[in-house]
Amino acid sequence: MIFVIEHIHEEGLDFEILEPKERFNIDSLDCVLAEDVKVQGTLERTGQEVLFKGSLETGLSVTCTRCLSAFSFVVKSQLKVIFIPINENNKLAHEIELSELDVEQEFYEEGRIDLSSPARDLILLSLPQVILCRQDCEGLCPECGTNLNVNKCDCKNEGSYDPRLAVLQKLKDKLK
Ligand SMILES: [Zn+2]
Ligand SMILES: [Zn+2]
Repeated sequence: MIFVIEHIHEEGLDFEILEPKERFNIDSLDCVLAEDVKVQGTLERTGQEVLFKGSLETGLSVTCTRCLSAFSFVVKSQLKVIFIPINENNKLAHEIELSELDVEQEFYEEGRIDLSSPARDLILLSLPQVILCRQDCEGLCPECGTNLNVNKCDCKNEGSYDPRLAVLQKLKDKLK
């Protein structure tokens, strides 16, 4: 997703592209980019700076943290990036200026900007830390491994086992 800055005219550049999923290299055990990535928006140039404002849409195939089943996760996010030429002098000033705004900051060189890396970051950040196939996923039985969303088993566990809740409970006990 590389754009040559000279091609961005005063009135801005509107575009819509579908970037092949292979280019993003998102392919881990519990998260695979399953669909091509649609990016649409506008590039605007002010002097040496280029602002992208737009949206991103794609789909991931992810694994539920609790029951380990795979399911699709839709990503639909807004993306705002400001591209600034690499230059030690303006680096600091911009970092302070931009830290309060809801804008990603990228540096560029050689008159080209690349949206791939902010797009990739956005896709990965859109995933919650705990990925659940549904809010009330019951997970796997810790004793026999049965998927409790599908079947009940005869083991004597009270509800589903959630290691994070166990940690919280310990903390609570300590605070008493
Ligand atoms: Zn689940
Ligand atoms: Zn069981």
